[in-house]
Amino acid sequence: MNTIDETSEFELLMAPILDERPWAVYAACKNETTMSFFPQNRAEEQAALAICEICPVKDDCLEHALETNERFGVWGGTTERQRRKLARSA
Ligand code: SF4
Repeated sequence: MNTIDETSEFELLMAPILDERPWAVYAACKNETTMSFFPQNRAEEQAALAICEICPVKDDCLEHALETNERFGVWGGTTERQRRKLARSA
């Protein structure tokens, strides 16, 4: 068992997230530090969506975003606009 000193900062930061979203450990974006999943322009949005396309937990991520009504950012290979459209058609 790790002590706090032996536990990495990443593990400490991820603990509450992994309780809520255990699939996040497999997320293609989990170590992504150079790009934003809360994009400020179309180029950033496209870059985030490209990572989602190869993500093994894309469906889990989208399901979570729809269930929790995540209003902002790219989740599960969708933009905010796309999720609003999905929610309206459900
Ligand atoms: S689908 Fe996209 S936002 Fe969701 S975990 Fe995968 S890479 Fe991250």
